[in-house]
Amino acid sequence: MGSVVVEQLTKDFSGVTVLQNINLNIQEGEFFALLGPSGCGKTTTMRCIAGFEKPTKGVIKIGDKNLNGLAPNERNCGMVFQSYALFPHMNVFDNVAYSLNIKRLKESNIFRKIGVYTRMINSKLAKYPKDIEKKVMDILEYVELTDHAKKLTSALSGGQQQRVALARALVMEPEVLLMDEPLSNLDQKLRHTMRNTIRQIQQDLKITTIFVTHDQEEAMSMADRVAVMKDGEILQIGTPTDLYSNPKSPFIADFVGTSNIIPGKVIDQENGLSVVQIGNQTVKSVATADKQEVQVIIRPENINVLNENSMEYDNSFDGEILFSTYLGSTVRYDIKVGDYTLTADTTYESGNHILKSGASVKLGVSPERVLLI
Ligand code: ADP
Ligand code: MG
Repeated sequence: MGSVVVEQLTKDFSGVTVLQNINLNIQEGEFFALLGPSGCGKTTTMRCIAGFEKPTKGVIKIGDKNLNGLAPNERNCGMVFQSYALFPHMNVFDNVAYSLNIKRLKESNIFRKIGVYTRMINSKLAKYPKDIEKKVMDILEYVELTDHAKKLTSALSGGQQQRVALARALVMEPEVLLMDEPLSNLDQKLRHTMRNTIRQIQQDLKITTIFVTHDQEEAMSMADRVAVMKDGEILQIGTPTDLYSNPKSPFIADFVGTSNIIPGKVIDQENGLSVVQIGNQTVKSVATADKQEVQVIIRPENINVLNENSMEYDNSFDGEILFSTYLGSTVRYDIKVGDYTLTADTTYESGNHILKSGASVKLGVSPERVLLI
């Protein structure tokens, strides 16, 4: 298994730069997510690593091996595509065995003599060597597709096709597994199940994995570390908790979870706290900013909707409930505070009273929970 190092990766398409100085340092055995909105360059990054695109500039390494100039099949990367890219006219077994077989034939004398390996593969006479057969059956058992081995892939459900694609990548025992939005074609429920399946496989095999997604929840719930991408650049890399609690920019704060983002102005320091003017109110924060104009970031779960018994907060505001949204274990409130609308998430236990639109409330926020960017 290898680490993946990407240095100064830049990619232009006809003079248009779509990747700009991408640097990644992915550790051996790590589950790494590349997260960003559609069009930001995630697929292009993966295709450069896999060898389907030639970088305009930069170096890509697996372990100490520089991949520049190597063909995709010389890189030891397994790739799972968003569209699965299975052969619809072949059964599950043949799909999974295909690359192994090609590799074997290329290495064998038969291939050198005949030269046309595709004819062999397509011919009904082509028999798989025993070890290939065992390897394929083992991997199919692992992804729970044994019973489907002889079915055409076109006859399978989305989740099953996804597992064929995964088996096909894994059977080559790649050093690195690349997955480009592998779950985006599945329905919501299956997506959740497959998240766990992929996570489990990754942990079993300890295979270095790069997982591309535009879905922040997917990235945050699956990956050891996440790189947030925008417009061809990496904005921040960190563990999910890092990114959530210390976003470097309002874009990340908003993209990774929900945030209240309010423009403010630092006007004072008081007992080690920054005092920030927002509208006609002030809010105190333990954070210090190196500039006066800031964005104040508060996560919805850190805005406490108070009752008479609540503790005192250094920051308290009067507000009026605009909407309440019942979400099962939580209630989300949109609350008008001065000129702003804040979103607050409160835990809901059965029997709790849900506040109605128009209700007056007091809100409390701890200065530890107020970020300044
Ligand atoms: P993502 O996977 O994050 O949605 P892509 O890597 O597919 O983003 O695309 C990034 C940008 O590069 C987009 O603006 C896209 O239009 C452009 N792009 C991707 N592939 C090509 C190509 N072969 N030729 C020209 N432009 C491309
Ligand atoms: Mg893409």
